[in-house]
Amino acid sequence: MEKYAGTPQQPKILNKDAIPLDAKIPIPSGTYNSLKEIGSHCNACRRCPLGESRTHAVVGRGNRHAPIIIIGEAPGKCEDETGKPFVGPAGKLLERMLLKAGILTRGELANAYLCNAIKCRPPANRTPTAMEIAACKGYLLEQIRLVDPKIVVLVGATAVRGLLGDKRGITQLRGVWRNWEGRLVMPILHPSYLLRNPESLKGSARWLTQRDLKKVKKKLNELA
Ligand code: SF4
Repeated sequence: MEKYAGTPQQPKILNKDAIPLDAKIPIPSGTYNSLKEIGSHCNACRRCPLGESRTHAVVGRGNRHAPIIIIGEAPGKCEDETGKPFVGPAGKLLERMLLKAGILTRGELANAYLCNAIKCRPPANRTPTAMEIAACKGYLLEQIRLVDPKIVVLVGATAVRGLLGDKRGITQLRGVWRNWEGRLVMPILHPSYLLRNPESLKGSARWLTQRDLKKVKKKLNELA
């Protein structure tokens, strides 16, 4: 059965429900009308092997029209169980740091939408493979298009690799503004690394990350 019409460069989807089943089928920009629709597809998705072992696909939470989208690596155990991103120990640390930077106000995600590059938990929290990142990327790009943020915060090396294709280490990339598709991008260290390195003195990983988040808040104020 034909699934697409249009040019090979810009295929037009005729049957959206076929998408989750085959990673060879691209997810062109404009496929989805809502984040809810993306969520239901992710929960039925088998584009990569992670779909077989997940409890829940972890799609996103927060303000669906936020000026900042925060993209992590992949769900961990707590996220897989709840279906919500950034709810485990690392997510809680990030949320405290976002509060401290003034990006979040207590209990409110008005300025941010949180999601991951990969929607299903890799076994034993291993790093997602290049194939898994590629299979899931269409959903991420659609989330960014629908939220339409001014600023993208990439949390950790996998998120940077997934969106920008930059394979350099996160310590080299963090704290420096990038431009991607007309949006400002700030890479930061992953909070699970910060949990393993709790030092918060000047120059430490936590101190640098807090400073990077302050840069994000300052830029948000400038753009407002
Ligand atoms: S990780 Fe992404 S591509 Fe893989 S099964 Fe889950 S939703 Fe589909």
